[in-house]
Amino acid sequence: MSATYTAAATLPEALSALAGGARPVAGGTDLVVGARQGKAALPDSLVAIHGLAELRGIGETSGGGLRIGALVSHSDLVGHPAVRDRYTAIADASAIVGSHATRHVGTLGGNVMNASPAMETGGPLICFGAEAVLASQSGERRVAVEDLLTGPGRTDARPDELLVAIELPAATGGSCYARLEYRRQMEIAVVGATCSVTLDGSRIASARVAITALTPRIVRVPGAEAALAGSDGGVDAVKAAADAAAAASQPISDVRASADYRRAMAAVIARRAVVAAVARARGSSESVPIPASPALHGAD
Ligand SMILES: Cc1cc2nc3c(=O)[nH]c(=O)nc-3n(C[C@H](O)[C@H](O)[C@H](O)COP(=O)(O)OP(=O)(O)OC[C@H]3O[C@@H](n4cnc5c(N)ncnc54)[C@H](O)[C@@H]3O)c2cc1C
Repeated sequence: MSATYTAAATLPEALSALAGGARPVAGGTDLVVGARQGKAALPDSLVAIHGLAELRGIGETSGGGLRIGALVSHSDLVGHPAVRDRYTAIADASAIVGSHATRHVGTLGGNVMNASPAMETGGPLICFGAEAVLASQSGERRVAVEDLLTGPGRTDARPDELLVAIELPAATGGSCYARLEYRRQMEIAVVGATCSVTLDGSRIASARVAITALTPRIVRVPGAEAALAGSDGGVDAVKAAADAAAAASQPISDVRASADYRRAMAAVIARRAVVAAVARARGSSESVPIPASPALHGAD
């Protein structure tokens, strides 16, 4: 059990608790569930942040992007029209987190700050060029999500910093997050891949590709992006991108898959993400392996 537990009513109260050594808890689906499973003991001091209105809500930014509060749940992300339409890979990712209950309680902020190399939203956020807005008693700073995630369970954030929001720049084109999973609920990525593309006519103008659960932290794959940029998005370009994703993998063997199997599946999952992102950019919802789960959304 934690020695102290407080529930912050305001952001300054939460920041004061963090400055005093408390650890934030949002939905608790990583922190508390992990402690119950014996992964790590609960911290000595916890501050609950679920009551902070400042960390809620999804809003448009002046630059045409989105600001997503750290407490926004996966269910809210899946159900938000702008997320589904313009940042579809995030909806794909949030739609397959855990179960209905997990998605209802688990937050975007908790997913990011838990920094698992297998977390669903990391690849999409990195491909969209998302920034994390971190607050402490000494002020606010921004860091690219790509730089925030420094290793398994590690971030660039100081212990006294609270993630208050994620900001996404304006996005056009299409995107997809796909994962290899053994079942549709209560699962986490065995292998994951994200692709976002913009088009210039029928050709791909720019592409971003990231791999999940294949490296110690989620990373972009420059070779895959180069294979797609300027191409027609056809079979050869897609294969080159998928092969680059597999080559960039440094998978581990564990109870869920061997390293060899993960590397082989990296190409398969990356190909699915690329094909779907290109199809979505072209306005098609066909051939999309994992739509932003309308069935799951409808059932929530
Ligand atoms: C059954 C089950 C299935 C799951 N399936 C998946 C899955 O498929 N994919 C997946 O990615 N995850 C999965 N998870 C993990 C988890 O649900 C998600 O990562 C969720 O988004 C965590 O959010 P939370 O609010 O519950 O985080 P919490 O548990 O509250 O916090 C997680 C970590 O982040 C820190 N933290 C939380 N909020 C902030 C903040 N605003 N600023 C700074 N630090 C903060 C906490 O101190 C803690 O270290 C699953 C969990 C369970 C229990």
